[in-house]
Amino acid sequence: MLGAVFKGEGRLVLEERPKPQLKSDTDALIKVTGVGICGTDLHILQVPPAHPAKQDIILGHEFTGQIVEVGSGIPDFKPGEAVLVDPHPGCGQCAACKRGEPDRCIPLFQGAAPGHCATIGIFSDGAMTSYAIVPRQSLYKVSQHVPSHIAALAEPLSCVVNAFDKLQMRPGESVVVLGAGPIGLLFTSLFKAAGASQLIISEPAEFRRETARQCGATTVVDPTAEDLEAAIHRQLPDGPNIVVEAVGPLLPQAIELVGAHGRVLQFGHDESVEPAVPVGTLLKKEVVIYGAFIGRHSFERTASIMGSGILPLETIVSHRLPLSKIHHGLDLLKQRKAIKVILEPVE
Ligand SMILES: [Zn+2]
Ligand SMILES: [Zn+2]
Repeated sequence: MLGAVFKGEGRLVLEERPKPQLKSDTDALIKVTGVGICGTDLHILQVPPAHPAKQDIILGHEFTGQIVEVGSGIPDFKPGEAVLVDPHPGCGQCAACKRGEPDRCIPLFQGAAPGHCATIGIFSDGAMTSYAIVPRQSLYKVSQHVPSHIAALAEPLSCVVNAFDKLQMRPGESVVVLGAGPIGLLFTSLFKAAGASQLIISEPAEFRRETARQCGATTVVDPTAEDLEAAIHRQLPDGPNIVVEAVGPLLPQAIELVGAHGRVLQFGHDESVEPAVPVGTLLKKEVVIYGAFIGRHSFERTASIMGSGILPLETIVSHRLPLSKIHHGLDLLKQRKAIKVILEPVE
């Protein structure tokens, strides 16, 4: 089978790999039916890399597939079933996992410690290929009615669902989302479904602003063409209840924009910047700031959301490409001409 292998120093090479085999009775063999290219994959492929990954592994951590074979320790899954895959399920053994915090799994944070499951597709072979081995604790059933290019959005959606939990949003609240990439758009869709009254999205790219409207934005703003603060003030003189930062370096702006006693959620991830926090504004407005990273106990609800069809997820997938076109997909994302690119490997 053909796999997209990380060769270090910005190199991703399509090469022939043997079809993987079950290594334990708690493994499943999955036929990959859809795998997303994530911003993290682009970070891994930067020179120097902006995200660590193990060299010579097949990338691809946002994926869905069909069960081909299961070990005897997985009696509740059968060949032919469609599954979502949590690529960072936790080892189940370490102190953090035993506390119920698989997102803090110690070997996961150390990379691929021997015998432990670190993030699939970053520290062990992932899904930019035809077949992948997945441990039992990563598997979630999903309705056969969810198309595979939509089910491939499960991992980013599970992270957004986890972040959403923190905000404890109430129907009727007002929200600003900074950035309409896949994450900003998933937030927008979820805020709409949860009853946001005003939903203002800031995004420089016109086609992404248009997609934000389809996801439920009440107002879209191009922050390079107009004063974002003034545009928000026209709709919300007291400022929004919630601001989500889905870009990376904009935490100071998010704090300035949010209303008094508002909540700011930092989701955009860019460790190359260390923005200065406007402390005076933060304390005078008594702003609450949340950070959110990967999902935690949110995959099952992600499968329910997908099965319900309540979110306009089809709008977020801008491109479906065969695996052989992966470099084209990466270029589209680098040139900001795509939203979410889903690769559909064929045997
Ligand atoms: Zn990702
Ligand atoms: Zn663990």
